[in-house]
This record gives sequence, structure tokens and C-alpha cells, in this order.
Amino acid sequence: MAIDNTCGNRLAMVGKRGGEQEEEMKAWIVSATSEEWCSLFHANTSGKAKLRGLEEYNLSDFTEMRARRLPGLDDKPITYQNAKDAGFQYGDGGYSEDGDGDGHLLPSFFSNDCRCEICDTSPNKEK
Ligand SMILES: [Zn+2]
Repeated sequence: MAIDNTCGNRLAMVGKRGGEQEEEMKAWIVSATSEEWCSLFHANTSGKAKLRGLEEYNLSDFTEMRARRLPGLDDKPITYQNAKDAGFQYGDGGYSEDGDGDGHLLPSFFSNDCRCEICDTSPNKEK
């Protein structure tokens, strides 16, 4: 019998929210104290979320990294709409042409730098 492990794992994770299994994917808002940006990543610990930020942006100082929880995005692909539903929107960085008038980035500029299983297998992923 052929079993698609990727799919099976993902369904197991989604089905066991709040459980103690290792692969629970928590959403984190990762930033660096000396930088203006922040980004969203899935990881099962804040340390791993910070590491993802370090790698993604070629930074070197782990102590600068900050990670805040965004529980509404746990186990969900990171998309503009999902993030917004979870209560998170990127700022427009002060460039009004990138924003919606409220200081929020327009959906068309939203990018997902997380490359976890959930985000990679999402049909909503726009990249
Ligand atoms: Zn992800």
C-alpha cells in the first residue's frame, strides 16, 4: 500500500492541535532588535524560529533575534489572508505607494519566507 508520508504527517499535525508531539508547527513573528523588518516563520520552538530568521537574512548575532508567538497562524500556511485573520499585517515601511492607507502592506506585496512543510504544500502559496 502506498502512503504519502508528507500528506499523512501534515494531516496528523493539523488533527492534533494542542498535543505534545514534536512536529507541531507554531507561528512566530521574528525580528532583529537593530533592524526594521520582521517576518513570519513556522517552528516548534522560538529558538528555531530565530535561527530561521538568521539564515534567511544572513545575520550573525543570535542574541539580536526576537520571536513573538502568533497562535492564530499555527499549522496554517502563511498567506496574507491567514496572517490577517490571525491579527498580523506587515507595515508598509513608510512607503505609502506600498500600503493600503492604514500603514499596512498591500496583499500584492506580501511574501512568505517560511519554507516549512505547511507553507510549501499549500495550494494558496503564490510563489
Ligand atoms: Zn511555514
